[in-house]
Amino acid sequence: MGNEWDRVKDCLDSTFVSSVGKYVDRFEVMLAEYTGAKYAVAVVNGTAALHIALFLAGVRPGDEVLIPALSFVATANAVSHCEAIPHFIESQFETLGIDPHALNDYLKHCSLSSSEGLTNRLTGRRIAAVVPMHTYGHPVEMGSLLDVADRYHLPVVEDAAESLGSCYRGQHTGTFGQLGTLSFNGNKVITTGGGGAILTNDAKLAQQAKHLTTTAKQPHRWGFFHDAVAWNYRLPNLNAALGCAQMEQLSSLLNRKRLLAQKYQEVLQDVEGIGFVVEPANSQSNYWLNTLRLEQPSLSIRDRLLTAANDGGYQCRPTWTLLHKLPMYADCPRAPLPVAERLEASLINVPSSAKLAGNMK
Ligand SMILES: *Cc1c(COP(=O)(O)O)cnc(C)c1O
Repeated sequence: MGNEWDRVKDCLDSTFVSSVGKYVDRFEVMLAEYTGAKYAVAVVNGTAALHIALFLAGVRPGDEVLIPALSFVATANAVSHCEAIPHFIESQFETLGIDPHALNDYLKHCSLSSSEGLTNRLTGRRIAAVVPMHTYGHPVEMGSLLDVADRYHLPVVEDAAESLGSCYRGQHTGTFGQLGTLSFNGNKVITTGGGGAILTNDAKLAQQAKHLTTTAKQPHRWGFFHDAVAWNYRLPNLNAALGCAQMEQLSSLLNRKRLLAQKYQEVLQDVEGIGFVVEPANSQSNYWLNTLRLEQPSLSIRDRLLTAANDGGYQCRPTWTLLHKLPMYADCPRAPLPVAERLEASLINVPSSAKLAGNMK
């Protein structure tokens, strides 16, 4: 812990605990400076951030949105909140994120017309955006993904909820697409209790993001005039005070997470049948979660290992159940997913708190 108590106390003393105050503005500035995004808009959580980012990217009811089948359920939920339909796509073995090469081949099945953009030939629905998600902090192969998105005129909205501190070719994740989103939930790299942010380099999108997440109220000294149906998604100043204190510690936190990952890698080198997920080529990962891979994917061996580890008091977890296996998403369109299936049956997350790095050298 750093200055958390002081910042939160100062916020309480100021009486500005809700949606207006110096901390929420300061937190946005810190996020923009750190990520290199021109603008950051702080909101109540990462799901809300993704919901609004998708809306601003032009996702409308009845559209399809390409998202990885291997992701946290919030990625699909944000699409549903736009009344759009998730369309699940394949993962890449090395990065654990969207495979841009598989996506390129797959999109050849869709038809492209210049007036209407990309259409799913099987459903007749418009494909409105693609959402790369940087799994456990490991960046997607963004160079190729941007090429594919360009080729098919697809807006890119990055779900960077897990990748604060992760870069691809030296550029921070969440700043490649039209819009990107972060999460500051309790389990993420830094936390505001609950929180999220929208990143963009586009002044107009940033202004709209702020407007739509603050009830679309037109600024006025005393009047109430709202010009759109909008949301109350602004991050409270109290949460932002916590966020400012957390941001001050981010680089030391990331150093410790990197040390811990190195240690896992060293220790696992000689263990037969088990590999360790390392940061992909051209990337710097925040190592949000440390992940083992079974060299022979097997759900039953995975579950036996998880049971033994948890019985022994080690909080190990599987990766997410693939999204198309969840009841509410079972009927959504999807690409062939052999790699995602393989990852589901082989990934195991191990304790990853920076605290574990202790005095490690
Ligand atoms: C955590 C997370 C979110 C959502 O963030 P919340 O702040 O919990 O709403 C979205 N996508 C991914 C991949 C996440 O890990």
